Formats: sequence, structure tokens, C-alpha cells
Amino acid sequence: QEDQFKKVISHAKEYGYIFPSSEIYDGLSAVYDYGQKGVELKKNIREYWWKAMVQMHENIVGLDSAIFMHPTTWKASGHVDAFNDPLIDNKDSKKRYRADVLVEDHTAKIEAKIEKEVTKAAKRFGDAFDKDQFMATNPRVLRYQEEINTILKRLGSSLEKEDLADVKALIEELGIADPETGSKNWTDVKQFNLMFGTKLGASADSAMDLYLRPETAQGIFVNFLNVQKSGRMKIPFGIAQTGKAFRNEIVARQFIFRMREFEQMEMQFFIKPGTQKEWYDYWKEMRLKWHLSLGMGADNYRYHDHEKLAHYADAAADIEFKFPFGFKELEGIHSRTDFDLAKHEEFSGKKLQYFDPEENKSYTPYVLETSIGLDRMFLAVFSNALQEETLENGSTRVVLRIPSVLAPTKVAVLPLVKKDGLPEVARKIVDDLKWDMSVDYDEKDAVGRRYRRQDAAGTPFCITVDHETLEDDTVTLRHRDTMEQKRVKISELRGLISEEISM
Ligand code: ATP
Repeated sequence: QEDQFKKVISHAKEYGYIFPSSEIYDGLSAVYDYGQKGVELKKNIREYWWKAMVQMHENIVGLDSAIFMHPTTWKASGHVDAFNDPLIDNKDSKKRYRADVLVEDHTAKIEAKIEKEVTKAAKRFGDAFDKDQFMATNPRVLRYQEEINTILKRLGSSLEKEDLADVKALIEELGIADPETGSKNWTDVKQFNLMFGTKLGASADSAMDLYLRPETAQGIFVNFLNVQKSGRMKIPFGIAQTGKAFRNEIVARQFIFRMREFEQMEMQFFIKPGTQKEWYDYWKEMRLKWHLSLGMGADNYRYHDHEKLAHYADAAADIEFKFPFGFKELEGIHSRTDFDLAKHEEFSGKKLQYFDPEENKSYTPYVLETSIGLDRMFLAVFSNALQEETLENGSTRVVLRIPSVLAPTKVAVLPLVKKDGLPEVARKIVDDLKWDMSVDYDEKDAVGRRYRRQDAAGTPFCITVDHETLEDDTVTLRHRDTMEQKRVKISELRGLISEEISM
């Protein structure tokens, strides 16, 4: 697993997807830049989301609110007081960790033991193996499950009560050691606010303390009435936005899974109070469908229903994805009640209510939220796509099976040789196709090597121009995933490729 993850990181760099930020100065921890391929993949994921959420829903509209917001926003939202991570330092190694993550990593180890039991049993029982039944009845699995539940329940309730001494006690009782050094010499647990501060204004005394937004959602809440009135929106309706968010994350490992500067794609759906359960179920299902539509394998997703709820939520679930380091949160679906709008009413003194013409009364709408990290989605797509396979002739092929709709470059046009007028014909095909899709031209090296290069770069189609092309206007169309080659007319290319790449 670790090996696979290392391969993902180095492949992303080698093929121009992701570079460490300011690398010539040795990089900046948990900050990354997207290269020539990465920027296209990221844009395509954003578009795929936007199309499903905004374009396909008559009652969902977009917004692009500023990163800087009035500082009172973050008082109202609870981020000034409650957007904290519990930290613990190891006295020997001087390393800093998130206390909750240490405990969760500990339970992940127990989960791995369950996984092992399952694998063992599956081997023993063969075709007759029923995983659900095994999980529900095997005494050892049940004991492990019970252990996990007890630990997580205690962690949840001590965090909720801000009983940090008990979080430390839990770490000690479980015998959790510094993952790097093995030392168990811990400091007390402290709260640490995740927001980045900055200043607005030039002169020292008039400057205003600001925060870089830690989520895009608040820009939507404060614009709720602007959009509702100017768009004459009727409840239920949604506002969607994509944009940068910033968090001073402590545990900043795992590549682009947890970054200090990242992008979110969020949608707030405003509903009538009392209908939240129905909309929660609806959006939970819709969002999973969106993921499944990419064809990255249903087994790679699972729901995680939250028992421990944030202060603003009355129901919450994550869609988890199987990353190279295990199942982790990819997207959250939260039923936020009227918490946000009511708080902004309280702090701003402005009414943020909706007049419902059918009910003939005003109320503060409830909110259903879907929130996904664009970078995290990128990592899901990219890590799932990277595969190494053994071909019939025994050689290995590295292929990046990015879903065609998301692939950064859709097609590469390759003249078989650099002479006899083949490059000119190939260029003409590029000029013709580039209006509708992103196209690469490549004439270096033998054509077999060029195919491999495009496979590894994630390009779903290659078009090869050869001498036959000069006679009958046909080319070879090669498919990345199957390596199947077909002879097709130049005039058919656009139609054939568009069918597979259109969103
Ligand atoms: P986590 O528990 O992983 O820290 P969270 O529960 O704090 O995440 P939310 O505040 O619900 O996350 O944010 C919504 C989404 O934004 C997450 O599902 C994730 O995809 C993304 N996200 C949150 N923090 C980061 C980060 N530091 N880097 C990249 N993506 C992030």
C-alpha cells in the first residue's frame, strides 16, 4: 500500500500533474502546485461537478464569493471559538500530533485486524463465504468491533465536552506511542485554531484582523438573501460554489489529501424546516450516484454515518473512498438545520428569512450541505487510475486509466514517421480537433514508445497517421484501456471520440 502511494506521488510529478510548491526552495509543507496535466484534470473535475449540480438542476445556481470576509462572519459561524484541533506533543521527539488522529490511527489498526480475519475466512470458506454474516457473528470480529466503538465513543464525548485531560488519558490507556520514535512521553492536549490570520489595510492602527476562509460555505450563507431575491428563488433551492479554502492543518501528510491551501466544491440547499430528513436522504444518494457515474468501482466507496455530530448538524455522513492508505473521507453530507442563518441573523442584526407564499409565512430555512474537496477528489481519481499491468508478451505497462470525461488530454496525434508528408497530415488533424477537445501532437521516438508515454500520461486515445492515410484518408485509432486499434476515416474521428469524452 505504502509502495503504491509512493508511486502515485512520483508519477504525478513525472507526468506534470502535481509538483511540491516552491520546490527549488525545498518546498512548503502541505502546499502543492498543479502542473500542465494537473490543471486540466482539476478543471475537468470541477466542471463535472458543476454540470451535475448547477447545470442539471433548475433550482441550483452558482456563486463566486470572495476569500476575504468580514471578520464577524467567523464569530457567527463558530470558527473563532470552535474550529480547533486537539494537539499533543511528544516530549522526547518534540513532534506534534493531532490527538484525535492518533486515536483514530489506533482504531484503524484494529480495523486492519478485522480485515485480516475476513480474508482468512474468505479463503477457508471459498464461494460459500458470506462476508456480512461473518462480520455479524464471528466472536473475534465482534470483540474488535466493540473495542473500536468504545474507543471512538469515548473520544467523541471527551472532545464534545472539551475534556482534553480525558483525551490524553485515553491515549495513555491505549498505550499509543509516537509513530516515528515509539516514545510514550506525551504532553497535555491543547486546542489549536486552524484559521490563518492576516491583516487588511496599510496603517498599523486602522488595520483589521482578517482570516483566510477555512470553508467556502459561509460566503453562500451571507449571500443567501441576495441570491434568493435577485434570482426570485423559491424554496427548495440551492447555491453552489467552488473555491479556495485555507486551514493550518497540523497533520499535513498524505500528499494532497490534507493540504493547507485547497479547493472545495460546496452546495447549500435551502429547505423548509421539517423536510431535512427527506433531503438528507436524497442528497446522500445523489452524491454517491455522481461518484459511481465515473465508473471507478462501487467497491471503492462506502458511507460513514456520523454518530458524533458537529455543533451545527442534526445528521451527517461521509462518502469515503478507498485511497492507497485505506478508506477515508472524500465528501461530507450535512444536515445543518438553521444554525448558520440564525447565527448570521444574530450577529448581523439583519433578518435572513424567507417568505413562503404557499404557507403564507416567513421562516429561517434549514440547510442541507454537500461538501467535497476538489484536491481530494483529484487524489481519488489519480490514485485509482494508476495501474501497472503485465501484457501477453510478458512486458509491463504503466497506464493511467483516468475516466475519459476527466482526462486532461483527450487524444494524441502521432505521425508514424517524421517524413513523407505524414507530420503535415497529422498537424491538420490536430488543428481540426482542437476546437472540441484538448489534443497533443507527438512525433518523437518509435510509435510503440509514444503509445506507452500517452498511456502513462492518461490520454485515452491515440491517432496514428501512416502511409495508408495518404491513400485512403484513414488512420489508426487506439484506445488506452484496451489497446485495441481500429482503422477509421479521418472524418469520423470527431464523432467517435466525442461520444466517449462528453460529460
Ligand atoms: P477531515 O476530517 O478530513 O479533516 P473535515 O471533516 O474537516 O475533513 P469538512 O470541513 O467537512 O472536512 O470539509 C469538506 C471537505 O473538504 C472534506 O470532505 C474534504 O474533501 C475537503 N477537505 C477538508 N479539509 C481539507 C484539507 N486540509 N485538504 C484537502 N481537502 C480538505
